[in-house]
Amino acid sequence: MRGNFIFFGPPGSGKGTQAIILSERYNFKHISTGDIFRQHIKDNTDLGKSAINYIKEGNLVPCELTLEILSTELDKLNESDKGLIFDGFPRNLNQAISFDKLLSKSKEEVSIFFDFFLSDNHVIDRLNSRAIKESRADDMSLDVINNRLIEYKSSRKELREYYIKAGKYKKVEALGSINDISNLISADIDKFL
Ligand code: ADP
Repeated sequence: MRGNFIFFGPPGSGKGTQAIILSERYNFKHISTGDIFRQHIKDNTDLGKSAINYIKEGNLVPCELTLEILSTELDKLNESDKGLIFDGFPRNLNQAISFDKLLSKSKEEVSIFFDFFLSDNHVIDRLNSRAIKESRADDMSLDVINNRLIEYKSSRKELREYYIKAGKYKKVEALGSINDISNLISADIDKFL
């Protein structure tokens, strides 16, 4: 069975960075819903046009659109994909439940839900420096950052409970060095291989 690993956490917690490092280390596919939305916006597709205002304000894009991009990604998979890292999805309980249904169609299931922990002060510091480096519009304004934090906090409890109950939960302290964190996550991924 394929390994399906979820990286969840506040903006700036490093889940995207770890997803890149670990997908390279294991030759897994990295699916970042945020990156896919940003690409659609850049390409000015219908989906991009529908998503842009939500992203600009730091709100969640409606579930139908998010599930649409996700099923498109899953349809592209082939036999040789032995693992997937989902970065930024699922983001709330509805998405988690829809995700389980979607995966079960291909007799798959979530392997581990990695929950990245980072305090608000660190989130704000990190996003301020990312705004300078990557010029991401949603990192530029404190209001938008706060909105994203509110979105995150409104769903983390239900997601935690859901995956703890399913026996798939792992906490990740997001303040350590990039290398230490990837090694810790690797130790858990290794158990699946
Ligand atoms: P971050 O974790 O730093 O906020 P992402 O790149 O994961 O960044 O997401 C950027 C934006 O894309 C989110 O604020 C949201 O508007 C949208 N988005 C990404 N993933 C989802 C999702 N699973 N459901 C709804 N909206 C999403």
